[in-house]
Amino acid sequence: MNIAFFSALPFEKKWFDQYCAHHQITYIPETLTLATAHLAKGNQAVCVFVNDDLSRPVLHELKGLGIDLIGMRCIGLDNVDQLAVSDLRLNLLHIPGYSPYSVAEQAVALLLGLIRHLPEAHQRVQAGNFTIDGLSGIDLHSKTVGVVGTGHIGKAFIRIMQGFGCKLLAYDIYPDRRLLETGVTYVSLGELLHQSDVIALHCPLTPLTEYIINDHTLSLVKPSAILVNTSRGRLVDTRAVLNALDCDRLSGYAADVYEQERAYFHYDFSDKPIIDDLLNRLRKHPKVLLTAHQGFLTEEAQRQIARSLLNQFSFYENQQMSLVTKASMC
Ligand code: NAD
Repeated sequence: MNIAFFSALPFEKKWFDQYCAHHQITYIPETLTLATAHLAKGNQAVCVFVNDDLSRPVLHELKGLGIDLIGMRCIGLDNVDQLAVSDLRLNLLHIPGYSPYSVAEQAVALLLGLIRHLPEAHQRVQAGNFTIDGLSGIDLHSKTVGVVGTGHIGKAFIRIMQGFGCKLLAYDIYPDRRLLETGVTYVSLGELLHQSDVIALHCPLTPLTEYIINDHTLSLVKPSAILVNTSRGRLVDTRAVLNALDCDRLSGYAADVYEQERAYFHYDFSDKPIIDDLLNRLRKHPKVLLTAHQGFLTEEAQRQIARSLLNQFSFYENQQMSLVTKASMC
């Protein structure tokens, strides 16, 4: 099968080439948009990522190019118009999951980096400044950690936080009873926000969770609380978070995602202007630690993503071939 691989990052070729077997992959660095969809011409399938645009007009354009298969190399499907997928009779493949530890550990790394001022401490040492005033942090031990979304990643994060000696609260629209046996207490979202010292978001982006963190919900949190978001940018009203940080109504924000990340994340803007004021405020704020959507970026996760998705492409192709064979025998 010929696959147009959008938003290709240099390191992905290593993994996908390793498992691509008889598929022919064209790596395209551009993000999939209405303007770039034509680059998929000549392929039977596209392989896309978190910031590719799979809205109805783009899907329509792909269908017109003869593409009927879309492979998602990410867990969230929030960038896909699923109604349009079914209307246009497109087939959607996605990976059911991959190393949840990759994202959970990124959340923990961000949390520790923020509360122990690691970026600033490292910058000082690099500059030959070995002073430590202003770098006082907090212990995680005995703190209350609230986890919103207790699926694969939320559970992995919970287990790590239990190892730190934290008390765990959780909120999920589908609570997992097995977690109760491990000492986790499910509470309402309001109670979780009110009681937690650390609030970690591990739910998907849906109409129900869009801006789940906003002016109102932030008014419920402790001023000393730290918010961690490694899930999706639009779970958080960034402007509300920045205002809360500025007014000392929130102590810190650690994030791997940003609501308007599509134009910037995974590209080098070090010698280009960044015209997004919200992003500029966020990345320069002293109480924010931000990475550019790299939670999935471990060797283990990359291997699982490539192997799992390419297996599905092969399975789909074999099914199509057996349908054609059966039809020709009839
Ligand atoms: P999952 O499906 O295993 O778990 C999601 C959980 O959220 C489920 O338990 C679900 O019931 C719960 N949920 C759904 N709607 C909710 C709501 N309204 N309120 C509270 N809980 C709700 O998914 P996962 O594998 O744990 O991944 C979680 C999210 O992490 C993904 O949707 C994706 O957005 C994000 N993610 C980020 C990266 C990254 O690189 N930063 C990588 C992978 C996934």
